[in-house]
Amino acid sequence: MRCEVVAVGTELLLGQIVDTNSSWIGEQLALAGIDSHFQTKVGDNADRMEFCIRQALERSDAVICCGGLGPTQDDITRDVIAKIMGVEMVRDDKIAAHIRDIFEGRGRVMPENNLRQADVPAGASTIAQMPGTAPGLVCPIGDKVIYAVPGVPHEMREMMHGTVLDDLRRRGGDASVIRSRVLRTWGYGESAIAETLAERVDALDESGHATIAFQASGIEGIKVRITTKAADDAAAEAIIAAEEALIRELLGDYIFGIDDESMETVVLAMLRERGLSFAAAENLTGGILSSRMTALDPNLEVFRGATIAPHGTNQNAKAMSGEDRAVSAATNARDMIGTDIGIAALAPLEGEEHPPGTVFVAVSLPDRAEARTVALPGVLSRMRSYAVITALDLLRKRLSEDG
Ligand code: ATP
Ligand code: MG
Repeated sequence: MRCEVVAVGTELLLGQIVDTNSSWIGEQLALAGIDSHFQTKVGDNADRMEFCIRQALERSDAVICCGGLGPTQDDITRDVIAKIMGVEMVRDDKIAAHIRDIFEGRGRVMPENNLRQADVPAGASTIAQMPGTAPGLVCPIGDKVIYAVPGVPHEMREMMHGTVLDDLRRRGGDASVIRSRVLRTWGYGESAIAETLAERVDALDESGHATIAFQASGIEGIKVRITTKAADDAAAEAIIAAEEALIRELLGDYIFGIDDESMETVVLAMLRERGLSFAAAENLTGGILSSRMTALDPNLEVFRGATIAPHGTNQNAKAMSGEDRAVSAATNARDMIGTDIGIAALAPLEGEEHPPGTVFVAVSLPDRAEARTVALPGVLSRMRSYAVITALDLLRKRLSEDG
């Protein structure tokens, strides 16, 4: 089974957005054991799209087109596919009704254009969409197939995992399913993780039940991905759950979440569950933490605000250690903003001797405070983003300790 990817969108050619979809799909195809020898990018132009898709279809068994499924004039993927199939478009009444419902539900008048998303090339089947988005398409052409998935990454991923990958493998004569789970870690180096898990990796190599892969992902931490191939979902889940339990025993609370969970979403959920609020001293991070938290908590229910003040306003700063200054800044932010908890990340004072990248992070809880000295990447912009996650991680660990 050979499958290639055609990413559609003029923005991709102009460098306005990076084609992360093709990379992600490439990774999934490799995991699923499907050969993928070409990836093409093409603008929103009917003739050039037709040329690319036809060419892909000549040399492969399946083509995944991503992007250009939306309601606007330049979203022409479905029309081009219908032309290649040599069929007319048929309006799918169910999808049309669904789109109308969504607009009515929001009390908005539906622009007629939106019904284009209910047009399906005759003979194609649709991939169920999430609310408010275009359906994907499975378009058989002889013994080959074109899939169309949206350009929006999370919608694309959902359709790939929900439908496309399994369909591809069935067509390739493989009835099993491939499932994976990502364990998200923070604060432990990639080689340290690899060393800690070396025995598990070897054991799995021998048993062939699953694989473990590591991926250093910047401020998203180091990802540990468990992948397995099994007869069905239930069997895959059992294997993954057992492997996850073993890895959790080895990595303990370096693991902060799974799959798409981020440090911010995890900490927010923990605080929300406990009915606690927090504030931050953003002396070093200059608002990055506030920006990330307010994106997830726009009404400031849990994250209530931040201070940016020299040395956390402590007059005796010069006489204090970096960790003490961080605690003082965290406590000050907590008291000024009136929250249960304060966190802080500070750089050393000018003239102090510390290795490059030294950062002091602190958490000030109602009954105690704690600080850490960490070494982060020395480039300021990266150091600041890492400092945000490191401060949140310290808070996460204290919260999970307290139960
Ligand atoms: P919509 O219904 O939102 O219009 P669509 O299927 O028409 O979806 P596009 O209009 O092509 O998709 O892209 C929508 C957005 O998805 C883009 O603005 C971009 O943010 C993201 N996107 C599209 N293609 C890619 C890609 N190849 N890699 C990463 N992101 C992409
Ligand atoms: Mg679009």
